[in-house]
Amino acid sequence: MFKCINRTAQFKRYIHSAGSSFSIKLNFRLVSSLPLRMTDPAVNRVVSEIIRSPEDKRVYRGLEFTNGLKAMLISDPTTDKSSAALDVQIGSLSDPSNISGLAHFCEHMLFLGTEKYPKENEYSQFLSEHAGSSNAFTSGEHTNYYFDVSHEHLEGALDRFAQFFLCPLFDESCKDREVNAVDSEHEKNLMNDAWRLFQLEKATGNQDHPFSKFGTGNKLTLETRPCVKRGSTSVKSS
Ligand SMILES: [Zn+2]
Repeated sequence: MFKCINRTAQFKRYIHSAGSSFSIKLNFRLVSSLPLRMTDPAVNRVVSEIIRSPEDKRVYRGLEFTNGLKAMLISDPTTDKSSAALDVQIGSLSDPSNISGLAHFCEHMLFLGTEKYPKENEYSQFLSEHAGSSNAFTSGEHTNYYFDVSHEHLEGALDRFAQFFLCPLFDESCKDREVNAVDSEHEKNLMNDAWRLFQLEKATGNQDHPFSKFGTGNKLTLETRPCVKRGSTSVKSS
């Protein structure tokens, strides 16, 4: 049996209530050769026949849960760390037209505390204390979150990670700072040729298509304009 079976069962409980527009990928070390049984009633379907390269010696298992969530488990006896990724199948193409960058801003806010782990940097600190790292990205149709961590701390990392998608705090006190973080990211992108070409494609495309949206967002689109529209008196000139 996988040493990770309890961890996997626990993770299934997390994701069972997380909704249907997610998919996850877990990578961990196989510590025994007995098969993993997936008898949890939350598992709708188990897929063992995964098409892969003949050179790929890893063990794969696909799971589909009763809430529609799909997961891929990958066991690799040679990997030196465990990892997980979760993809939320929505991104900046779905931003409201009057708040460009909202999906990206939401991605940033999930890192800043959850009901179970309210301390702002709890997740990052836990990972850095256990040889781990994390990141996320927002594209047009996806928002993706991922981390790696030493094998023995996968459970703790998953617990903190899963809370992002269950009970994020979205604490208002973090909002201004995170708008500034997104703004800085955009300023940095302005100097990058790949980002400039991407913007050129958007600017020369059909302006009625969602692809033309400004996905990164900045202080102007996330704070200044929405506040002006609401008639807020707290708007500062920028
Ligand atoms: Zn960002």
